[in-house]
Amino acid sequence: MKSLLYKVISFFFPHYCLGCKKHGPIICTKCLATIPPPERDLPRGIYALFDYRDPLIKKALWNLKYGNVSELAEIVAPLMHNEIIEILSEEYALLEAKNIVVVPIPTSGDKTKKRSYNHAYKIAEAVVAYQNKIIGQHWQLVDPLIKIKKTQRQAMVKGRDKRIKNIQGAFSIKKEFLNKIPVDAFFIIVDDITTTGASINEAMRALKPLNPRHMFGITIAH
Ligand SMILES: [Zn+2]
Repeated sequence: MKSLLYKVISFFFPHYCLGCKKHGPIICTKCLATIPPPERDLPRGIYALFDYRDPLIKKALWNLKYGNVSELAEIVAPLMHNEIIEILSEEYALLEAKNIVVVPIPTSGDKTKKRSYNHAYKIAEAVVAYQNKIIGQHWQLVDPLIKIKKTQRQAMVKGRDKRIKNIQGAFSIKKEFLNKIPVDAFFIIVDDITTTGASINEAMRALKPLNPRHMFGITIAH
């Protein structure tokens, strides 16, 4: 059933490729293949699929973040999954990775209270669904972090030092997760965009008490 809300959403977020305007997904396969990988250096332990300066990925990320449209998460899930597998085998020499736990960065601001929508969660969910459905080996989607400090949007904060300060102490582990994470877990932290890596580094710091075996972060764009 197509509700009024759906019609309104379709009006603002129409069902065509943001690149070539062809009817279909918000980024078609052809246009997806034209988005360049990140060219600028990423902080250690953080990976990204695309260069954020590309206008098409910028537009699609806006839809994911503010349009409650999770389509981009499903489109990039297989690519992010591939990248994760490559990192696991190349950087960690893991061919059969066990106890993989995918963790989304918690959503910022007051929206958190009423929202049922968190774009980082949507990405994490799509990657785990892809792994478990297509590959069959079980990865876990766990959402153990909570935002405990009001911060400015990282994108609005200029300068590396200010960004680190803005996000410092922002995340904490939800009580119910303290004894729930599998022993020997490998955490993969997922977000939409990274600039200085400050949010992911802060999440890693917050997750340390859970004693993960390893952690790295991955985002759609840098
Ligand atoms: Zn296209």
